Amino acid sequence: MVMNAKGRPTQAGDTAPQQIAPPTHTGNRALLIEEPLIFESGDFSGSGVDLPEPGDSPLRLGGYEAAAAPALPGLSEPEAMRHYVRLSQKNYAIDMGIFPLGSCTMKHNPRLNERMARLPGFADIHPLQPQSTVQGALELIDRLAGWLKELTGMPAVAMSPKAGAHGEFCGMMAIRAALAARGDIATRRRVLAPESAHGTNPATAVQCGFTVDAIPADDGGRVDLAALKERLGTDVAAIMVTNPNTCGLFERDIRAIADAVHEVGGFFYCDGANFNAIMGKARPGDLGIDAMHINLHKTFSTPHGGGGPGSGPTVLADSLAPFAPLPSLISDGTGFRLIEHERDNSAGQAFGRLVAFHGQMGMFVRALTYMLSHGADGLKQAAEDAVLNANYVLARLSGVMTPAFEGHCMHEALFDDRFLKETGIGTIDFAKAMIDEGFHPMTMYFPLVVSGALLIEPTESESKQGLDVFCDALIGLAGDAQSGLVERFKAAPVYAPRRRLDETRAARQPVLRWEPKDPAALAAE
Ligand SMILES: *Cc1c(COP(=O)(O)O)cnc(C)c1O
Repeated sequence: MVMNAKGRPTQAGDTAPQQIAPPTHTGNRALLIEEPLIFESGDFSGSGVDLPEPGDSPLRLGGYEAAAAPALPGLSEPEAMRHYVRLSQKNYAIDMGIFPLGSCTMKHNPRLNERMARLPGFADIHPLQPQSTVQGALELIDRLAGWLKELTGMPAVAMSPKAGAHGEFCGMMAIRAALAARGDIATRRRVLAPESAHGTNPATAVQCGFTVDAIPADDGGRVDLAALKERLGTDVAAIMVTNPNTCGLFERDIRAIADAVHEVGGFFYCDGANFNAIMGKARPGDLGIDAMHINLHKTFSTPHGGGGPGSGPTVLADSLAPFAPLPSLISDGTGFRLIEHERDNSAGQAFGRLVAFHGQMGMFVRALTYMLSHGADGLKQAAEDAVLNANYVLARLSGVMTPAFEGHCMHEALFDDRFLKETGIGTIDFAKAMIDEGFHPMTMYFPLVVSGALLIEPTESESKQGLDVFCDALIGLAGDAQSGLVERFKAAPVYAPRRRLDETRAARQPVLRWEPKDPAALAAE
């Protein structure tokens, strides 16, 4: 039996001699259950509930009655429940292990947050309820807004954006409204964004009607200030910069960037998705930033992934505050009140409304719970620990993998694929082998400015012991790659319920919906 350095068997289930795994009759492998689509498991003629047959009642729909039963699988409650629980068990989750996706900040969401979000006074309210009956919820939004303004050193915040990208949209629409108000919108059409920008930045600029001009990075992975200055002019509406940037580095020239953009009359939008690394340490308001979204679902825990829910409040400087979207929340002597309409808005210049109601209440509760349970000192420590953990990973892996840039990092450690050079193994193969080791791979091939990038963000809540297990696995894999075990990498993952996809075929012939094997039989029902 082969033992690893910790004295444990290197192969799972090593109590019996390793044998070739026999095929099973069901296709299941112990707890790895082969789960068909729900449409393939149900019988369309049945129903999961017993209801009496409807009596003969006259049809009153003027001929619009459905001719056939809806094509829903007739599963019982336990069958339906098992289907979804089995599917859920195929998901990797932050509650199962480290989720090292860089840029995404997949941090632990404390159970206390969930408890608070489920309090009926928050969970069961309706956005159309009279405001007098939801004063506590409005106060919570106001307190959260207060914390966000304090942490960022900004005077105003729009709470309604429902994701980071939505917050970018909010900030850029405010910039557009401010330019329009000063009669400048026709001439200022250009937005500058670094080459390393998250894809949402240029997408937002274009969606708001601007064109995008890329700013190159310098050798250190930061914005090239000289190149930036060359691209500045009076046709520039704004610059969009992420800080810390997507290479996991703090933009040291941030004040100079802000001054240069302001000098030509442009605005400074900061992508604040990486605020986790600097909260309590640096305030965007002091760095000359005019607008910045905060991903509550990254920096202040709260679950995310799989499409949401997120929340992206956008803080605004004095110059942009009057253009914030409706609704806005005010408190007067009698309590809290939402300004819903432009006619009630004393500032009178809101760029419009972003969403139907007032934002993502469940996320607000979780984020404020996180803030209050940490306190100001705790938030600062969370940022410090996130940076410390990332630097620990960087230091431990530097010997075998190749850091993309010299020096310390902020909250994420970035490697390039030079350590795989001449091995015939690519970043994707390396990542697939991590799945066999029981890890979710890091962010790969992003940022685009780094060849075969591997971006690792451990977050603050991983222990040293947990990080060591993770680093040991990567060191082992890097060693395997360098000793030429190409087959192992090309075949990976071999232990996952599904092997590697034929990505070319998946892209060329995507099968995006289930089709019944015998459509005629279904329609006849
Ligand atoms: C996550 C992220 C975004 C987008 O946030 P969403 O909530 O996914 O819309 C934008 N920029 C950066 C740098 C990010 O990491």
